[in-house]
Amino acid sequence: MSIIKVENINFEYTDKKKALNNVSFCVEKGEFVAILGHNGSGKSTLTKLIMGLLMPIDGTIIVDGIKLTENTINEIRQNLGIVFQNPDNQFVGITVKDDIAFGLENRNIPRDEMIEKVNYYAKLVGMENFLDRNPETLSGGEKQRVAIAGVLASDPKVIIFDEATSMLDPKAVKDVLTTIKDLKGDKTILYVTHSLNEALLADKIIVMKNGEIILEGNKEKVFSSIDVLMDASLDILDEIRLIKLIEEKGLNNKKEIVDLLWQLAYQM
Ligand code: ADP
Ligand code: MG
Repeated sequence: MSIIKVENINFEYTDKKKALNNVSFCVEKGEFVAILGHNGSGKSTLTKLIMGLLMPIDGTIIVDGIKLTENTINEIRQNLGIVFQNPDNQFVGITVKDDIAFGLENRNIPRDEMIEKVNYYAKLVGMENFLDRNPETLSGGEKQRVAIAGVLASDPKVIIFDEATSMLDPKAVKDVLTTIKDLKGDKTILYVTHSLNEALLADKIIVMKNGEIILEGNKEKVFSSIDVLMDASLDILDEIRLIKLIEEKGLNNKKEIVDLLWQLAYQM
């Protein structure tokens, strides 16, 4: 059974320009799905609709068998966790510890178990030495890791990461992605990103452009659709760009390829 079913969703903000145009897709239980798209392609609008923070003009969203309406929002949110792009909007506690524990507080979990969970998830994201710090005193990347620990600790069925790693350095991104990949199977993951590199770790990739889904499939399929990715203004991997340029320019010796590499380096 699909745990998320999005059917023919349309949405516009006040400006009457469609932010989402007839978007439909399914996510299976335990699947790791990446939503890949350039800035403004509608990714965050889509995650906000799934969270019930915005309501579609038409179309339906079904989460774990429950149709999303004004009346079912609270029930649905019990199954969903989200980490937003900007960590400043997601803190509630005075200490990191409180923040990670926040999602656990309504669940009648014994105190010892709660402390154990907080410590476990803090360590998982490498924030175990910051437990008594005020979240406001942390760097963007540290805040983001605390937010991720908090969502993981609250143990929802579906976790949405909306460009949640954009403030992290490459090593931290890798650590978070490894953690996310380990959750796969147990949790359903919706991983929103503009980075093809990060999307390639998913079971399925949904590519968005101008509020529409323009490509959907596994990484082999997406990899073989380079023109679609370029059309969606996505940063295709440097290696692919290089191979394409070598083919286009008909380069066939080492000197020409080295010259091209220098040219590309100067363009950076
Ligand atoms: P993404 O997350 O892929 O960068 P968004 O979903 O944030 O894209 O934005 C999709 C489109 O909707 C963009 O054209 C953006 O300018 C517009 N948009 C987003 N938020 C608002 C808002 N609060 N009011 C009006 N337009 C918005
Ligand atoms: Mg966004």
